[in-house]
Amino acid sequence: MPHRTSLPTDGFLTPPDGHQRPRIRPTRATLLIAAAITLGVPLMALPAAAGQEGTSTGRATTAAPPTREETDRLALLLRLPKPNPAGFIGDPYPLDTCIVAGEKLGEKAVTLILKDQRDALQEGRHLRFCCEACLEKFKANPTEYLAKLDAEIIRLQKPQYPLERCLVMLDETLGEDTEDFVYGNRCYVLCCRKCENNFLKSAGRYVTAYDKALTGRQRQTYPLDTCIVSGKKLSESKDGKPYDLVIGSRLFRLHSEAEAKVVLENASAYLAKLPPLKSAKPQG
Ligand SMILES: [Zn+2]
Ligand SMILES: [Zn+2]
Repeated sequence: MPHRTSLPTDGFLTPPDGHQRPRIRPTRATLLIAAAITLGVPLMALPAAAGQEGTSTGRATTAAPPTREETDRLALLLRLPKPNPAGFIGDPYPLDTCIVAGEKLGEKAVTLILKDQRDALQEGRHLRFCCEACLEKFKANPTEYLAKLDAEIIRLQKPQYPLERCLVMLDETLGEDTEDFVYGNRCYVLCCRKCENNFLKSAGRYVTAYDKALTGRQRQTYPLDTCIVSGKKLSESKDGKPYDLVIGSRLFRLHSEAEAKVVLENASAYLAKLPPLKSAKPQG
């Protein structure tokens, strides 16, 4: 059985709706708590100072004021996408080989979900390795291996990038000269560096925009009228609305969130099983 580290999937995953954003600059405590809710971290796991700031215990006075870097990181955490039903952020690890040894992922493969990352943009990322030894090698030198992985994802996914326009500057058609990068194991192609920076400052918003654009486009040509996991009719989903899940450049229409979890845990198998879109655009 693959060893697995995962975020807790309790009721903290969904922040309460209808909360007004405070107009004042958020304090370290509010940022920590909001980030914890977004990421599904139990509040008890937070540093003591976060929960006690502003109370009369007297312990808050020992907390150092947050550095600018720390505040920026926490603000960025709030703008990440929410974890998916399988407990990680972004797409599943997209390769069938280990980025450390280059070996096929087999029986001894291990899964790692990045947590408490200094680089908030790596938070929640799903990774797989062929064995425990490779996982340890990765932990000793994550920056190098993540750069290697990103380069490989761009090489494989860029040719299939499904949008013709920049996600950030919507009226910009993507030409020869693009800005390519990876967020959450997925390659994004934008028109310029400035757009990449804006994307990374509000990753949740732009991932949602990508998913919406792809879903809107592939819904009409989706090849199945049943759920690829359970075989149930999509028209019999809750409220008649299938659960839409985007992985890379493909949409999955599923009976419910439970099936989405199954697809995310076996993504390469389901991507291979998913038939091509019904009527591709007329060629030429
Ligand atoms: Zn290995
Ligand atoms: Zn752009």
